Amino acid sequence: MTRIAIPDDSPFGLANLPYGVFSTPGLTPRVGVRVADHVVDLTIVDDVFAAPSLNPFMAQGHARWVEVRERIIDLVSGDIDGAAVHPVGAVTTHMPFEVADYVDFYASEHHASNLGRLFRPGSEPLMPNWKHLPVGYHGRAGTVVPSGTDIVRPSGQRKAPADAAPAYGASRRLDIEAEVGFVVGAGSPIGAQIGVDDFDQHVFGVVLVNDWSARDIQAWEYVPLGPFLGKSFATSISPWVVPLLALESARVATPPQDPEPLPYLREKNPWGLDLDLTVSWNGQVVSRPPYREMYWSPAQMLAHMTVNGASSRTGDLFASGTVSGPDRDQRGAFIELTWGGKEPIEVNGAPRTFLEDGDEVVITATAPGPSGARIGFGEVSGRVLPAR
Ligand code: MN
Repeated sequence: MTRIAIPDDSPFGLANLPYGVFSTPGLTPRVGVRVADHVVDLTIVDDVFAAPSLNPFMAQGHARWVEVRERIIDLVSGDIDGAAVHPVGAVTTHMPFEVADYVDFYASEHHASNLGRLFRPGSEPLMPNWKHLPVGYHGRAGTVVPSGTDIVRPSGQRKAPADAAPAYGASRRLDIEAEVGFVVGAGSPIGAQIGVDDFDQHVFGVVLVNDWSARDIQAWEYVPLGPFLGKSFATSISPWVVPLLALESARVATPPQDPEPLPYLREKNPWGLDLDLTVSWNGQVVSRPPYREMYWSPAQMLAHMTVNGASSRTGDLFASGTVSGPDRDQRGAFIELTWGGKEPIEVNGAPRTFLEDGDEVVITATAPGPSGARIGFGEVSGRVLPAR
């Protein structure tokens, strides 16, 4: 038997306990929980964790999420079978859940305003619908990949405003979007709506998302139906799903919403999360986006996603859209950070605008936990490979 050393300042202490899927040589992928610098094999808690995905456990619903979390806290606080404990450096992490459907929102007023100015200069930055509903689109679930997956530079049609005709080729304006993703554990049948007050019954946890975006492909293709091939080539997520149950202390009020939303989007106290993100470009922190600035709340996003009676399923992932704050160094996309490539930033001494082959981007986040603890989200990383 062994006892896991948990330093008081660990972002993976007992207040966090995020779930992931891991393997070691000789051990098939299964669900584990991150505790300090270790991963505990949860098959010693319940057979549901022998699956290479969190989906079977998430489908069991909120009461089980609460009960099992209590059991895990008891387990890892005491003496534990050493064979079930692995140093985090010795495991390989995988996709933590099977993505059912994937939706991406656009919930930051700062980001939407900046993109409006860049994509539609001379017009109102926000479209007339923006403050009435959380704008979003359906993305491609099959290309959501785990952190560490290389990203091949996409090719496609691009046409700058000054070009006479479109051309085919590798994207020259490859970008990132630092986002926060919400994982649906317990879905809802077709024809039903999830009300803003029922969020906790349905959403299991939270991951970090990098919504890789080819701005040149996007700018030419997006009118009138929205993002398509400029984003569907890859979306990366972090390996550890932080349970919503670990984020009680991280809840904060959203910024004031004016005009008041329609009744189905009206929460008594709309809440967001006090997450501090960092974006590193080749090892240098270039941005610190604050999630607390997001205009639309996660519960409003889920209520809107199902208000038409669309079903939701275990494993649905909905992302917040780029997290950007009011300051330049709080912008979560390089198109904003470099103002469309016109204002390069210095990365390791060189002026940079969009991603070059070989570049690596790492997004991290932490949130306040109870009694001064920090809740870590780990990281989502990816490196750009040349176009094929
Ligand atoms: Mn996005």
